[in-house]
Amino acid sequence: MCRPGTGTGETFEFSQAWNKALPFAYQVRRSQFDEVLIRRAAASGAEVIEECRVREVEFLRDNAGAHVHAEHAGGRTESWRARYVIDASGRDTFLGNRLNAKHRNRQHNSSAMYAHFTGAQRYPDCKRAGDISIYWFEHGWFWFIPLIDGATSIGAVVWPYYIKSRARPAARVFPGYPRLVRPACGAARERTADFRSRGHGQLLLLL
Ligand SMILES: Cc1cc2nc3c(=O)[nH]c(=O)nc-3n(C[C@H](O)[C@H](O)[C@H](O)COP(=O)(O)OP(=O)(O)OC[C@H]3O[C@@H](n4cnc5c(N)ncnc54)[C@H](O)[C@@H]3O)c2cc1C
Repeated sequence: MCRPGTGTGETFEFSQAWNKALPFAYQVRRSQFDEVLIRRAAASGAEVIEECRVREVEFLRDNAGAHVHAEHAGGRTESWRARYVIDASGRDTFLGNRLNAKHRNRQHNSSAMYAHFTGAQRYPDCKRAGDISIYWFEHGWFWFIPLIDGATSIGAVVWPYYIKSRARPAARVFPGYPRLVRPACGAARERTADFRSRGHGQLLLLL
């Protein structure tokens, strides 16, 4: 972790955490991890339906469950009667939107942009090469997460005004990306001197 303006850092070892039985962690690609989880769920007996979007949930009176209406990728629609509905739509917050139940938290108002890069420097010593680094800077912080195959996930979480102050960041998110993170702090600048985008990533508003 790099403190703002100082270029100095601090290392936190899993082996020094409260539970010393878990001395290390793995960084995995989210997409691959999700794939493992969904296949495992199917192997364990869950019926997995892919490429199907829930369009409406109709709750029935007297706690009698719900009708779930969905649309498959080809346009075919299907409905189910369910005793329980668990909304696992993540940031899409399907039911939160439908039920108008979302409240903005003005204390937690941030934007993030991230991508996977090649060419970002790792720590030279084997022990630290896979370490996650967190860099603070005056507009927020960003993560630096080494992944397999030489890729590095780098993402910045900043106050929205900072992204808005960049030249057309949403339209030119990746050419603009190095400009967003490079000025952050000395140590981070060095490690991203030769990085190149692997061509995918996202600009998110986490409001
Ligand atoms: C910028 C960013 C960086 C992060 N970094 C990390 C990290 O380094 N480590 C970490 O552990 N976590 C990280 N997280 C958090 C992590 O990604 C989330 O906690 C996790 O993905 C939540 O999983 P989920 O299954 O609840 O939702 P999601 O992963 O969002 O999955 C929701 C799924 O629901 C589907 N869906 C949505 N709407 C519908 C619909 N109407 N019908 C059918 N399906 C629908 C979507 O297609 C998606 O497949 C990060 C999150 C963000 C935003």
